[in-house]
Amino acid sequence: MTSRLTSLSRSVAGKRVIVTGAASGMGRATAHLFADEGALVVVSDLGESRVQAVVDEIVGVHGPGSAIGVVADVGNHDALKSLVASALGTFGGLDVLINNAGVSTITSAFQDEDSFESNWATTLDVNLTAHARLIRLCRPALQDSGAGRIVNIASTEAIVTTAGLAAYAATKAGVVGLTKSFAVELGRHGITVNCVCPGPINTGMTAGIEDDAKTKYAHRHVPLRRYGDPEEVAHMTLSLCLPASSFVNGAIVPVDGGMTIRHT
Ligand code: NAD
Repeated sequence: MTSRLTSLSRSVAGKRVIVTGAASGMGRATAHLFADEGALVVVSDLGESRVQAVVDEIVGVHGPGSAIGVVADVGNHDALKSLVASALGTFGGLDVLINNAGVSTITSAFQDEDSFESNWATTLDVNLTAHARLIRLCRPALQDSGAGRIVNIASTEAIVTTAGLAAYAATKAGVVGLTKSFAVELGRHGITVNCVCPGPINTGMTAGIEDDAKTKYAHRHVPLRRYGDPEEVAHMTLSLCLPASSFVNGAIVPVDGGMTIRHT
């Protein structure tokens, strides 16, 4: 007997997915996880060889046609248009968009004007404007899908912040805001829009931090007393894209080992 519970599928097999920032860290883990679950993945990032390496890994396991690579700078509007055109040209449609690419730069009240202005502009372009543009560009195809899914990767910096990261914190809070607005707007068109806020995760972005410093930070701030792994974030992203998550919309989900609910 099929009940309502079991008829809500927990499979993304055959779903067509774009992942930005997919050559490293959480994006790479997400691309792998979706492919492992039978999805068709567009691996997008900067750098031909970095993108091709992840495509080769996925195709090596799941065969030709399971993934394609598209080199695209998400800060460039034309590159985003080409990215979406390539995805639609190859897979004939789109079911899932994962807005994951991001940069973390210093933006401080004390730094020199040129470096502040340059870092501020880049961070806004890559971490915030690109998300909105890609959502707009993917909207028609996600609507055609009938059950479109968008997951935006923000950060706990949207909730609690660090000195010297003004632009990063502002963009991540902005991603929370645009998630809510697009969720309200696109819900009636069968598209859900949700947001994941990772805490400290072992990726390329945090690779420059000494192990000792990571351990100290985690012991002081994270109830689970460690950095997270990219796969632990990828699983939450996947969960939000399951057909069974059809009523989750506009959610802001921390994946942070409890960091943001801790009373210091
Ligand atoms: P990462 O550096 O390993 O991966 C980020 C990827 O984004 C890189 O491959 C990079 O090339 C790509 N990217 C950067 N600028 C780009 C551009 N202009 N166009 C296309 N791609 C670009 O870092 P990560 O930690 O996996 O980052 C993924 C997301 O998670 C980011 O949005 C980041 O802000 C967010 N995040 C990271 C942490 C953490 O602790 N690592 C915590 C919270 C949120």
